[in-house]
Amino acid sequence: MSIIFYNSLSRQKECFTPLHPDHVKMYVCGPTVYDRAHLGNARSAVVFDQLYRLLKAVYPRVTYARNITDVDDKINAASLSRGIAISQITGQTTQWYQDDMAVLGVLPPDVQPKATEHIEEMIQMILTLIEKGHAYIAQGHVLFRVSSFKNYGKLSGRSQEEILHGARVEVAPYKEDPSDFVLWKPSEAPLPGWDSPWGRGRPGWHIECSAMGHKHLGFPMDIHAGGHDLMFPHHENEIAQGESATGEQCTRYWLHNGMLTVDGSKMSKSSRNFVTMDIALNQAPGEVIRFALLSAHYRQNLDWNATLLAQSKQALDRFYQVIGKAESMGLMMESGVQDGPILKALCDDLNTPKAFAELHQMAGALNKDFERDVFTQFYAGGRLLGLFAVTAQNWFQAQGSSADMQAEDIEALISERTHAKASRGFARADEIRQELHAKGILLEDHKNGPTTWKRK
Ligand SMILES: [Zn+2]
Repeated sequence: MSIIFYNSLSRQKECFTPLHPDHVKMYVCGPTVYDRAHLGNARSAVVFDQLYRLLKAVYPRVTYARNITDVDDKINAASLSRGIAISQITGQTTQWYQDDMAVLGVLPPDVQPKATEHIEEMIQMILTLIEKGHAYIAQGHVLFRVSSFKNYGKLSGRSQEEILHGARVEVAPYKEDPSDFVLWKPSEAPLPGWDSPWGRGRPGWHIECSAMGHKHLGFPMDIHAGGHDLMFPHHENEIAQGESATGEQCTRYWLHNGMLTVDGSKMSKSSRNFVTMDIALNQAPGEVIRFALLSAHYRQNLDWNATLLAQSKQALDRFYQVIGKAESMGLMMESGVQDGPILKALCDDLNTPKAFAELHQMAGALNKDFERDVFTQFYAGGRLLGLFAVTAQNWFQAQGSSADMQAEDIEALISERTHAKASRGFARADEIRQELHAKGILLEDHKNGPTTWKRK
């Protein structure tokens, strides 16, 4: 079975051949642990979990590394604003992340390196870059000299001119050139810092992934993946510093997932459309969220909205009805990989919409005429997609909760919401609406007259 991927580096679909035919090595940029993960983080984790599952189905051995960035200015800022120790913030957020991803059916990677446990490797890589003339020391900082790497811009397809005038380039008096980026910067107590040949300091973000990827997977890695927004400058800088330090190509296939919008607009922290995992899990079970996140092709943008969730749930209800039928017949549930249409769809640049269409087609056929062979394909295909994690009975029972909610309890909450809105407590009002929504109760506000409700 051969796999085809769109390689961002060559900007075309390529046949995937790992460097070592029996052992695939993949690296995905993981979370910066300062706050609860949002749906954009979840999309990247779910999409590349699907990639990991596919590779494990096709190759005898896969090593998947996904880092945890636990030293970052955003973490320092969160610690200051919330008055909580840095270690407490990173510890709690890491745990949230692991728990949330598990609910989405994301398998734990083989290695989850933490930045703070790889400072020595970063210092070594920076020393090599200085020695080779690719980096310089200025006012306690160490900077990468972009002009020393002739292929800079090859991944994102930007010219030096564009990079210089780009919005993400930070001008600073100690830089030889505005596009040079920080490898190491001074850090004074109480901010986290480590002793280095350049004084007490902390690493820049980009060097983390290069040092950890090199240590745990070695160069060249077969696959390096992440969100499309990481292509520049993060991945571009990883290539520049990693290849300059080692003289080797750092990654052979670069994969990037598209962005996620909510109700048609970009998620932003200050707006109401910022959906964190706790909010999402109030709206739908993890498996529905996983289905929704995989419903668009990974390279396309995906819009998160109520229709998408409703359609995803409907699809899974349909599939679980088929599983229920098999359960009532006492059929064995076998999740061994089937060389069938779902595996084939995934081998074509991880075409999950096609894989879902195949599941629908098989469900239709099974509803007409229940053939065991077709069911085996159907069930194994769903498992390969990280679905069908529970029995049909559990699936449908878990949804019965709206019947448990009494009308007077619903009306009490609606009344609390009306008061909250009147006193501008919009956050609480929203929370109540979401809480009821999660229990299958839909609210309808009217211009004149009180809010009404119905069960989904
Ligand atoms: Zn990274």
